[in-house]
Amino acid sequence: MSFPSPNFTERRGGVLPSLVVIHYTAISCDEAHSRLCDPAAEVSAHYLISETGTVLALVDERHRAWHAGAGGWVGLDDINSHSIGIELANDGAAPFPHLQMTALEGLLQQIMARWAIPAHRVIGHSDMAPTRKIDPGPHFDWRRLALQGLSVWPDRGDCEMPLADSLTQIGYPDAPPESRLAAFRRRFRPWASGPEDAIDRALAANLADRFGPG
Ligand SMILES: [Zn+2]
Repeated sequence: MSFPSPNFTERRGGVLPSLVVIHYTAISCDEAHSRLCDPAAEVSAHYLISETGTVLALVDERHRAWHAGAGGWVGLDDINSHSIGIELANDGAAPFPHLQMTALEGLLQQIMARWAIPAHRVIGHSDMAPTRKIDPGPHFDWRRLALQGLSVWPDRGDCEMPLADSLTQIGYPDAPPESRLAAFRRRFRPWASGPEDAIDRALAANLADRFGPG
């Protein structure tokens, strides 16, 4: 298999990928393909998936692609060294087509098996960079992935741990409270608005309890 993007380095410290970061391109698939392979752009991802479900492998999974930028998750920084990046061709407003989601699911199953990555370590770009990024956005169907064991989805519980504590245990990096709340809702409760409430606290506490560091 050939990997056409020159935009990669070695994973720093020789670490193995332990996270998957999902993105949308915000531009067309053809434009994204060119850009992710253009040395002058200095960006890349391991995979780009078209709207019709074609999976383009751009960087070898063993290498460090340049998709995540500044941010953090579960106390890790340099997310590029620790992750595999997947770009979905999507403008941020359209739904993600069934064929594209099916292709993503097949790819995730392979990646997660190959590197022993658990479901709670499949995250969105906005999760790890809540002050800078909004992709893959409120239209991305995280629950669909979770139902197949490819990501996580909260159950409604009664626990009301402080939201900040839960978000930190889930993995969110330090950021202003409003940015972290917005990132959490974009993924798990995109129809919600207004200030933090008991449902946010219950959902986040449930995820922290099930997937936090304990
Ligand atoms: Zn992104």
